[in-house]
Amino acid sequence: MRAHLSLLGFLFLAFPWAAQADHAPSVRVPILTYHHVGDCGEECMKHPKAASLWVSTKAFNRQMQWIADRGYTTVTMDAVSALFHPQTGTASLVGNFKLPAKPVVVTFDDGYSDTYDNAFPLLLSRKQKGVFYVLPGFAGQPGYITADQMRKMSGSGMDIGSHTVDHKPLRRLGPLTRVWELTESRRMLEEILGKPVRHVCYPYGDYNRFVEMDAQEAGYLTGTTTQRRVATKEWDSFALPRISVRERTDLRRILP
Ligand SMILES: [Zn+2]
Repeated sequence: MRAHLSLLGFLFLAFPWAAQADHAPSVRVPILTYHHVGDCGEECMKHPKAASLWVSTKAFNRQMQWIADRGYTTVTMDAVSALFHPQTGTASLVGNFKLPAKPVVVTFDDGYSDTYDNAFPLLLSRKQKGVFYVLPGFAGQPGYITADQMRKMSGSGMDIGSHTVDHKPLRRLGPLTRVWELTESRRMLEEILGKPVRHVCYPYGDYNRFVEMDAQEAGYLTGTTTQRRVATKEWDSFALPRISVRERTDLRRILP
């Protein structure tokens, strides 16, 4: 017994963090948001608000390089959902995902075709992952990713999530339309991809507890917003914060 106690004492002195495991700080999961990646163009530059949604391919490349240099690993939302469903849902639903020590999520809103043309090949060549929240109601329309492109991205390890069918502010819709936006977009995307779609991003970051409940009811595991914070497991998994990245965003402030 004495030997055991002194062994424990030795272990505690040698590895004090082992005894503090329960109080270890929660894993920080910065979730970055992009809209357009590429050249905004001369006409677009005349409108500062529209132009602010564009990150040039060069700046995007530099930002992804920064992420890699600082030892961050890009993960999908399936991996993030493991934080919230450690014993139950995730393991059986989406496989055994484990978060790396320094995870980061790179998300793209609206499914613009420039993200397929410019961000996707870059991520692929860097062996990094992206999460594309697309609008199946707009698939294939000018400027938007096609169903074939969604399949190609999904087949290459990118996460395709729902941004609803056609980008309506969910809080302002009646309950039936709100549920339809959430369930129908998931159904359409699952039909296109032939695999489960488990993550939703609320258009305009417009949500409340009814939207969250309906998202959960529709079968999603996470919902993302536009609250500007870094996610941890203490956050509500249906109201996860994200940080919008611009052309000149200093990633040192977000990813120290
Ligand atoms: Zn959007």
